[in-house]
Amino acid sequence: MFKIPHISPARLPELLRRMPKAELHIHIEGSLEPELIFALAQRNGVSLPYPDVESLRRAYAFTNLQSFLDIYYAGASVLIQEQDFYDMAWAYLQRAAADHVVHAELFFDPQTHTARGIAMETVVRGLHRACTDARAQLGVDATLILCFLRHLSEEDAFATLEQALPLRDLFIGVGLDSSELGHPPEKFARVFARCRELGLHLVAHAGEEGPPAYIWSALDELKVQRIDHGVQALKDPALVQRLAQDRIPLTVCPFSNVKLCVFPDLASSNLAQLLDAGLAVTINSDDPAYFGGYLNDNFVQTFAATGLNAHHAYTLARNSFEASFVTEAQRHDWEHQLKAVFESFSEHDF
Ligand SMILES: [Zn+2]
Repeated sequence: MFKIPHISPARLPELLRRMPKAELHIHIEGSLEPELIFALAQRNGVSLPYPDVESLRRAYAFTNLQSFLDIYYAGASVLIQEQDFYDMAWAYLQRAAADHVVHAELFFDPQTHTARGIAMETVVRGLHRACTDARAQLGVDATLILCFLRHLSEEDAFATLEQALPLRDLFIGVGLDSSELGHPPEKFARVFARCRELGLHLVAHAGEEGPPAYIWSALDELKVQRIDHGVQALKDPALVQRLAQDRIPLTVCPFSNVKLCVFPDLASSNLAQLLDAGLAVTINSDDPAYFGGYLNDNFVQTFAATGLNAHHAYTLARNSFEASFVTEAQRHDWEHQLKAVFESFSEHDF
């Protein structure tokens, strides 16, 4: 077991920024900044219902998940060409590199685009090319997870999977996102079973706005390997026990929880309780362009608001590698880098 060196609270923000970490809950369409939305709208001749960048940004005052999704889908309408998908992912990956993200698993929502007549191949090839370039040029390892929109039917999800199968080598797994309430995980049990047969990794959003029952069914009916959000788990002690026992990671998104009114403020985040319960929690940015910040902002502000310390920082970064869909050797390498950064912050150096 690694002994965390003593690190003064004053140096904690810098440590949080510098430590290597993985981001496992980022919707790439949610990284589309207003400036890029306007640039792509102009390039593609798409007209937007907002006159300028500032008025679009002002519309980012959400009252719940649905009020966000309405604007999010409008923003995605500017993505037409393969290069647009590339530019969007590349912009995120540059920010990720600046935040010392060494590995990112990017969610994408193909149905948002195929429903507008954009080919699956246009979406996946553009995103994948950005991931390839990120590895070579930024030193960021990046992979793709295809998400099904849960407000649509399972039949639609099956059709989407069918369209994506010729590109099977370009994504590592599937997820489930969009409007949670009224769309329980079991609605997608058959398509997830098929994805499992195909050897795809499985994750699902559950327990953000939805009840603990949705987390149970994501585990038992969809057989997911990670739960996205999962903050409602604390309402059910038996569920907490199950998540701890099976080391099921929760990809928690503090800014998102506040912007979508799951919690009134960052200080009310239940991250510390989830960690204390022994759960494999990670911190993520979800839809950073819409929720007020990228991964390091989430770390620094959440720690400041909740009083988490260097031990928590180490645990969260290590959890992010444990929860990543990578090889054991890769994970070991990043853990080694993590320890080296913590040691370099040791007080004994001064
Ligand atoms: Zn999400």
